Amino acid sequence: MISILSAVVAAATAGALGRALARRRILQLEALVEQLRCGDLVDFQSGELAPDRAAAFREHLARCKICESALEDLMQQDMALSLAAAPREPGRRR
Ligand SMILES: [Zn+2]
Repeated sequence: MISILSAVVAAATAGALGRALARRRILQLEALVEQLRCGDLVDFQSGELAPDRAAAFREHLARCKICESALEDLMQQDMALSLAAAPREPGRRR
């Protein structure tokens, strides 16, 4: 009786443990996919991302603080670059 009970408890525990491990593995995989999305940032910003990946990245951007601030930085760099490249010749003569 006790051994049956302990076997049932052990099986239930193993099942719960298995489910917990599976859930943790899924969370890890989801985190990995999120990290892979971070890698799309530069292509997204330069408009080279395929439409479906761009849509997925936009969803990611709403959740990812890293990409949000990195995208802001990239946009500021772009603006600084285009200002620096603006045709305002500083009279390069001697
Ligand atoms: Zn990200």
